[in-house]
Amino acid sequence: MIYRYKGQQWSFDELEAMIHDSVLDSTDCPQCGDSQRVEPDAQGYKCHSCGKGRVHSPLVVLGFV
Ligand SMILES: [Zn+2]
Repeated sequence: MIYRYKGQQWSFDELEAMIHDSVLDSTDCPQCGDSQRVEPDAQGYKCHSCGKGRVHSPLVVLGFV
């Protein structure tokens, strides 16, 4: 099974691994495309690279958290 969000995708195995991690790679910033390490419940974090875009935990946007 593949989960998608705005052009990104993750396998179920990848998401399952994220659930057990304390930090994981965020969704890509819509402004600059960078991702960063965030907590599993991260929502609307300011992008560290450009300071404009917002990034989220994939687990949040996919409804796992
Ligand atoms: Zn950015």
